[in-house]
Amino acid sequence: MPALIGEILSIPAVPTLSRPLSGWGRYPVEVCEQVRPERYRDLRPAAEQQIARGQGRSYGDAALGKRVILTERVNRLLAFDATSGVLRAEAGATLAEILDVIVPQGWFLPVTPGTRFASLGGCVAADVHGKNHHHDGAFSRHVLAIELILADGSRITCSATQNAALYWAAVGGMGLTGIIGEVSLQLIPVSSPYVQVRHHAAANLAETFALFNDAALDDKYSVAWIDCLASGDSLGRSVLMCGHHAPHDDLPAALRQPTKPGKARAIPFDLPALALNPFSVKLFNALYYRQQSGKTEPFFTHYSEYFYPLDSVAHWNRLYGKRGFVQYQCVIPDSGAFAAVTALLQALSQSRRPSFLAVLKRLGPQSPGLLSFPMAGYTLALDIPLRDDGVFALLKKLDEIVLHYGGRVYLAKDAVLTPQEFRVMYPRYAEWRAIKQDVDPALKFQSSLSRRLELDHA
Ligand SMILES: Cc1cc2nc3c(=O)[nH]c(=O)nc-3n(C[C@H](O)[C@H](O)[C@H](O)COP(=O)(O)OP(=O)(O)OC[C@H]3O[C@@H](n4cnc5c(N)ncnc54)[C@H](O)[C@@H]3O)c2cc1C
Repeated sequence: MPALIGEILSIPAVPTLSRPLSGWGRYPVEVCEQVRPERYRDLRPAAEQQIARGQGRSYGDAALGKRVILTERVNRLLAFDATSGVLRAEAGATLAEILDVIVPQGWFLPVTPGTRFASLGGCVAADVHGKNHHHDGAFSRHVLAIELILADGSRITCSATQNAALYWAAVGGMGLTGIIGEVSLQLIPVSSPYVQVRHHAAANLAETFALFNDAALDDKYSVAWIDCLASGDSLGRSVLMCGHHAPHDDLPAALRQPTKPGKARAIPFDLPALALNPFSVKLFNALYYRQQSGKTEPFFTHYSEYFYPLDSVAHWNRLYGKRGFVQYQCVIPDSGAFAAVTALLQALSQSRRPSFLAVLKRLGPQSPGLLSFPMAGYTLALDIPLRDDGVFALLKKLDEIVLHYGGRVYLAKDAVLTPQEFRVMYPRYAEWRAIKQDVDPALKFQSSLSRRLELDHA
């Protein structure tokens, strides 16, 4: 029905639906009222509590709430200047939709998370980081401006120079300061869709840290895959994967033709919870380590394989069975990073809970984002299946280690932090809360995460 007729008849232009919803980890699952605006002008706050949602690629309860505003249809690319590399798009646009347009014209995202299925709004709200954080900072550093739709319905432009206090509260603010409507982003130039990659094997954690600290090996991007079932002398053995955008002229002739990412294969159903057990993961890890550590010579790979390896399997989160999983991601300041990561891997190894995926990245200095996650140090991310409730005791133990070493847990991945732990980990919360109070005094923007962490309490 045309929206005008709907409005005259007082039928809401935006239909609502109540059904179970979760984040990417499929824990927790909550019945949420969902609304899906079709056009930018329908993107406006209601009278009651609500939270915006992009593509639901955050793992825990950040994009859940009483009323969830699905932004997926508000995804138009509004302007792209192929000379300056400035892109303006509605916040529901995904990185995949953007990459399809910009890469053939010689541009790339300045910062990207490990999935191209996140939305622009989700990247701003979580102030995501990539494999280049130690060089290029977080997403917010490259955002030229956002349009924020506030609780009173007004629309305000914010950036590092305009309404800056609100900007630094909104980036990393997990949708709690308002709906991000539009984003202008400065892209980086590339001359091919390929990345030149080099792998370096490390026999244990000390070697892994030595590789990260070796200036001769440093590259624009770096990430280490950790075999977190290795223990004893091999604890923390890894493959460090470094890379940079390959210049077109360096490519072999076979790679000079235009290419697009391959189609994803899908996991069609939930795997039985026992499919990923210490035995199967240990076997996989041993094979993967042997295969990847053998790639000692530089090689070219498509950007989708280097940046988004998991995207090639649609619904890979079903691998963990019906109960889902948590991704535990923390950052530890440089000074205690080696000791903390050792303690975290030991705790995981002793728990006999296999982590199918464990990655370690180096992060650079913190941004002015009041709730932004990255700080100078090392970030460890672990996928932990939720086979039974015993996993929560393990997560508490990991939290204690992180707190002891002055680190913090990433809100975009979290499902279990307590209000007290959050306040220690995010010392600029009080500054953020004051801005939230100014722009949303009635607390219209609330999520399950904000209620769990009591972000509505002073
Ligand atoms: C395989 C995989 C790899 C990942 N790798 C990384 C990584 O390397 N680095 C990293 O930083 N993160 C990473 N992530 C996490 C992911 O990038 C973030 O959680 C991101 O926020 C997801 O975007 P989304 O559109 O799915 O947001 P959602 O999950 O839908 O929402 C996340 C948060 O953003 C808010 N939000 C979303 N859209 C809007 C909007 N328009 N206005 C206001 N608030 C909004 C929501 O309220 C919520 O608080 C990864 C996730 C996956 C699944």
